[in-house]
Amino acid sequence: MMKEAKRIECPMCGHRLMDKKEGACGAVQVKCIKSKHVWEVELSKPTFKLLRGKLYPDGKGVVMVDY
Ligand SMILES: [Zn+2]
Repeated sequence: MMKEAKRIECPMCGHRLMDKKEGACGAVQVKCIKSKHVWEVELSKPTFKLLRGKLYPDGKGVVMVDY
C-alpha cells in the first residue's frame, strides 16, 4: 500500500506549501512564496502558527486547518 501524501496549503492564500506524508510528525517552518507568510506547522496536529506576515483581522495568528 502506498502511503498517502496530503497537500498542505497556506491558510492565507491557498498556495501549496508542501506535501505531508502519512505519519509525519514534528514542527516545521515553511515560507509561502506567494503571500510571504512564514508558518510554523505542527505536522501531527492541524495547526499553523504564523511567525511572520500579516495577521488575520482577529489577530490570532494560529490557524486550525483540517488535514
Ligand atoms: Zn500564502
